[in-house]
Amino acid sequence: MKVIRKIAEMQSMSKSLQKSGKTIGFVPTMGFLHEGHLSLIREARRKADTVVVSIFINPTQFAPGEDLDKYPRDFQRDENLCHDEGVDIIFYPDAREMYSSSFKTFVVTNELSTKLCGISRPTHFRGVATIVAKLFNIVKPDFAVFGQKDAQQSLIIRKMVADLNFETEIIVAPIIREKDGLAMSSRNKFLSPAQRKDALIIFNSLKMAEKMISGGEQVANIIKQAIHDNFHKVASAKIDYISIVDFEKLNAVETITGNTLIAIAAYFGETRLIDNIIIK
Ligand code: AMP
Repeated sequence: MKVIRKIAEMQSMSKSLQKSGKTIGFVPTMGFLHEGHLSLIREARRKADTVVVSIFINPTQFAPGEDLDKYPRDFQRDENLCHDEGVDIIFYPDAREMYSSSFKTFVVTNELSTKLCGISRPTHFRGVATIVAKLFNIVKPDFAVFGQKDAQQSLIIRKMVADLNFETEIIVAPIIREKDGLAMSSRNKFLSPAQRKDALIIFNSLKMAEKMISGGEQVANIIKQAIHDNFHKVASAKIDYISIVDFEKLNAVETITGNTLIAIAAYFGETRLIDNIIIK
């Protein structure tokens, strides 16, 4: 396994892999890897000749006052995990390598990026789309694997790829959860034991919604209200949003019929967690 820190080196490596007919599968991450990330790496490993994982905590997707500085890091551990999963290359640039002091170009996916997480994090998806576009131009992957955990992100990346004619295929893999249902996240490590317990309310609420729908409930507002009521059971939770939207344009739906996303974001202390389910 190789660790590459320079853009030019990664680009020439990708070009020579392309020339020799090897397919490149790519998993972009911010590191501090957990089983969720590893499931994406395994998916890439199954399909590609060469697996590239990027580890880069992207400053442009954090607003001032968010947790950029305290975002967890442990490169040694990540390197060992990637090695054990048969990753071929870790692309591990630093922020100065990725953003020169004169950096001026951003990718904005209108409409999709202003909803759900985009309301409380208005510059977040601009940072995400920009770094993914840069990484695609550096790694030149045949396909890239993203997690359903970040459902809005996956839609935005698909839209960006379609609109800007990237030749990278986007694969979206299922959410990996802890045994009790909490969606795995690098940020879970910030939860106190009490918050960790309370955080289960997100998954419990999504399961409750799913049950209501399979029992015949179709009115989005009734389900939303039930989730709100459910959240009152836990002291440390502060809801950012509960959204029931079509899983294409992310517009609110009144009645649940086709492909619907139920997404929740909530704070437990300072820690903001997200989770979702898709109702087919
Ligand atoms: P991050 O390092 O948080 O930026 O995540 C990198 C990739 O891993 C993104 O495509 C996420 O959607 C995905 N991911 C994060 N957590 C999970 C999870 N619990 N299950 C599946 N994929 C995940």
